[in-house]
Amino acid sequence: MKNKKYVCPVCGFGGLKEPPFDKLGEASYEICPCCGFEFGFDQAPYVQFRESWLNSGAQWYVLKQKPKAWDLQKQLKNLKN
Ligand SMILES: [Zn+2]
Repeated sequence: MKNKKYVCPVCGFGGLKEPPFDKLGEASYEICPCCGFEFGFDQAPYVQFRESWLNSGAQWYVLKQKPKAWDLQKQLKNLKN
């Protein structure tokens, strides 16, 4: 289970190390390297954060983790809503 990855509910990035919130509702406080959302800290609704992130050009928060063949549209398909 150590290598399991989780999808960021904000941007659809599929490489989070922990679930944003565990079964008890405890936040991971992990910062998504893609959109920069910090679970448990950022209070903005996911959709709102996503829109402002997209509107500002969908820049990677940790640029060195950006895959070479990154495809935003493909990543957004990971989102269920
Ligand atoms: Zn994200």
